Amino acid sequence: MQDAMKTNELPPEVEALPEGLPASDLVMGIDLGTTYSCVAVVEDDFPKVIPSRKGLRTTPSIVALDDKGRLLIGEEARKQLLINPTNTVYGAKRFIGRHFYSDEVETLSRYFSYSIVPLGEMEIGAQVADRVFSLPQVSAMILNELRRNVCEYFKADVNKAVISVPAYYTENQRQAVREAGEIAGIDVLRIINEPTAAALAYGLNKEFDSKILVYDLGGGTFDVSVLELFENVFKVLATGGDTFLGGVDFDERIVQYLLSEYERQENEILQCDSVITQRLKDASEKVKIELSNKNTAQIDLPYITISKGKFKDFQAELTKEDFNEMTMDLVDRTLEVCVEVLDAAGLQPEDIESVILVGGQTRMPIIAEKVSAFFGKAPTKGVHPDEVVACGAALMGNSLGSESSVRLIDVLPMSIGGRQPDGGFKVFFPANKTLPTEHEIGVATTHNSQDAIEVFLYQGESGRAVDNEFLGAFVVTGFDKAPKGQTRLAVKLSLDQESILEVTARTLSTGQPMHVQMVAKAPVQPEDIELQPLDPLLDQPPASPDTTETKAGKGLRSFIRRMASE
Ligand code: AMP
Repeated sequence: MQDAMKTNELPPEVEALPEGLPASDLVMGIDLGTTYSCVAVVEDDFPKVIPSRKGLRTTPSIVALDDKGRLLIGEEARKQLLINPTNTVYGAKRFIGRHFYSDEVETLSRYFSYSIVPLGEMEIGAQVADRVFSLPQVSAMILNELRRNVCEYFKADVNKAVISVPAYYTENQRQAVREAGEIAGIDVLRIINEPTAAALAYGLNKEFDSKILVYDLGGGTFDVSVLELFENVFKVLATGGDTFLGGVDFDERIVQYLLSEYERQENEILQCDSVITQRLKDASEKVKIELSNKNTAQIDLPYITISKGKFKDFQAELTKEDFNEMTMDLVDRTLEVCVEVLDAAGLQPEDIESVILVGGQTRMPIIAEKVSAFFGKAPTKGVHPDEVVACGAALMGNSLGSESSVRLIDVLPMSIGGRQPDGGFKVFFPANKTLPTEHEIGVATTHNSQDAIEVFLYQGESGRAVDNEFLGAFVVTGFDKAPKGQTRLAVKLSLDQESILEVTARTLSTGQPMHVQMVAKAPVQPEDIELQPLDPLLDQPPASPDTTETKAGKGLRSFIRRMASE
């Protein structure tokens, strides 16, 4: 196993960009999708989708090794998904930026045929044959492919980009996408939320004043955002979603139907290996897509298995009506999220002027029907669900630095807070807080001669810190040793408009700035955590000196030393 292979750069055999091209100021708008990715660039004020060398407008977000160990990216990799699923990495967008040891990753890895392995402290590696790629590396290969298409198209070296991410991505996931951009040699000017990008493509330079809702149901995730548009200001009022709801869940319902249908026809259970599972998934997606245009679809899977020494064929049929019924709860779930997001924005369905559908799964006709019934109006036509996000990102990129610059006012998708001594989660920034924003907390030393204070930040909505996403451990140093409780600091957490977090600290007594360092990105064991009370202490008198030394915090310090020495 080539574990020692560098996972923070492009694999050596990735095709290099053409040499000697003149540098360009063009900015790519990149929609790095779960199943497909798309790149657009603004030319003569209009966003234009840049096709691949084969003339395709989207590129599969897939990377693979073939049976000779050759690296395949995009369309080439997609071709072998069916025959070599265990060596084909797809859906990287669902794993990127997550911690390996998390419930989400455990649940997610059941969806995929390739192996998910730990990499370093917490990262996820995708194992294909004898190689392990990091998730940012997988995404970087896709980004590089898109960039090369653009460079060849314009005969110029284009390296700037605005990349879109689901609005519901955590800070860690956003950071991982930036890292993917860096690996691909791309200067990521901005990370933009997909619904915001879609709204831009829809509303930029159109003179109106209205509230719109972007309903984005893609391959793996569902995002909803409500925005207010006025004079090229795009203000997100609320956002929400479900990172476990997307096209694959619709496919999975058909897979389950096929398994039960096989059992009914053959009186035996279909024993699935990875190839059979992939064939079922593939057939299910095809049937699903067919049912977007037809009332009935046939499933034909010759030689699906060998039973009692004989090859077995399998045929079945599915009607649109039955498919709608077996997925009704999924569609209803999307509408529940719309209600939550409207509530958060203090709006009713009738307050929404336009509903924009984004994401391939919204082509399923029942979705437009249900959305129309819910909002009392048909979704807006004329925006291409596969291309609108890349086009919006390109428009954003083009506007950066120009006089007619677009103003995006975004919100924080999920609450950010700290871990309390009892393990509880204290919210500093609630979900849907308008960005940029800042919050100051007061912390004090809890034992004598303490020379560092740690703050543990998490993101999510659970009342228990550990059930949320760990964002990082920050250590504040630079103050003199003193008796317990005497050192009191104000720690300021600032989120910029892209929700990038900055932590600064000063002493409460003199205002002297302190040194703040992020020391851990991986979750720290609870017993390693030195628990700092995170209630604002700013108005409380200093605690009285105490000579008892506590041992709290030793674990974390040894952890930090270990990190530093690695
Ligand atoms: P995206 O992440 O936006 O590329 O969306 C991909 C998802 O859209 C996949 O689950 C596809 O199966 C699904 N999809 C694409 N075309 C259709 C269609 N015509 N009808 C239903 N689902 C579709």
